[in-house]
Amino acid sequence: MSIATTSTAKSSAIWFADGDVILRTDDSLFRVHGNTLRKQSSVLEEMLQAADKDGSVYEDCPVIRLHDTGDDMRAFLSAVYTPSYRPKGRSDAEVKDLIAILRLSTKYSALLLREQVVSVLSRQFPPTLRRWDSRTYNVHFERNAYAIANVIRESNLYRLLPTVLLHCCLRLTANMLLGFGPMDAAQDLDAVNKRAVLFAQPYLSHQILQDVFPNFYDFDLEVYGCHDALRCCRSKGKLVSWMKASPFMWCYATSTMETFLKKFEFCQTCSRMYMKCYAEGRQKIWDDLPQQFSLPPWDAANEGDRYHSS
Ligand SMILES: [Zn+2]
Repeated sequence: MSIATTSTAKSSAIWFADGDVILRTDDSLFRVHGNTLRKQSSVLEEMLQAADKDGSVYEDCPVIRLHDTGDDMRAFLSAVYTPSYRPKGRSDAEVKDLIAILRLSTKYSALLLREQVVSVLSRQFPPTLRRWDSRTYNVHFERNAYAIANVIRESNLYRLLPTVLLHCCLRLTANMLLGFGPMDAAQDLDAVNKRAVLFAQPYLSHQILQDVFPNFYDFDLEVYGCHDALRCCRSKGKLVSWMKASPFMWCYATSTMETFLKKFEFCQTCSRMYMKCYAEGRQKIWDDLPQQFSLPPWDAANEGDRYHSS
């Protein structure tokens, strides 16, 4: 039987002459070792057992038909075969591989691999505000935020989802205001994520003004103990204009907020008061973030990723 002559082609990356099983995806064939797969994935182990009993054969090897793309499978098998191959997101290609490995390690219950990918992703999309503030900005994760949000939801990783959706909020605003396109046409937020982001956005804009920069539109209000009411009121005006232009920038202006406020030349008392509101307001919004995306609260999601939306 010649299944390679149809729309599928032998993978040039993963084809072991001594392999004893063929994985057939939508567009590629992979010749691999049953033993290696069994060690990693309980689901593939069961499929191997079934394939041994009956099914098609190619080059004397049983064939397992999988409904995945060849690209995803190549990334997954590369990680299975090469323990040193653990994409970290240093390029768009690495982020795509990470997404593929998460998708397939979830689907085939390759738990060790899945945990490794989750640990990379949770550094970029941490579940706590403290870790969010200390993370390193990574343009490749940023650009692929939609695809990451989709696979994270698909994989029931509810402890990472609020942070990823927050990234999508920022991304969507940038797309709408500045016309950034997604990386490629295939990348789009799935319907549930899009709905969650669009519903949360007005809330976030409102809460940022109310909790993070309270009383900012009340120009008559004088901060108790203010050293220079006129100067501080003028500074407030400048800061409000800046806020209008970029309502979501609070997410990036974190530990530098103190330095940032100095630029607006508030007196020390006002500066301290705004810093306090800023810190407390952000924490309040963060604590409430999952619910705004219709997700379980942090505590429930942090217990693990056993939560399944019904
Ligand atoms: Zn003042």
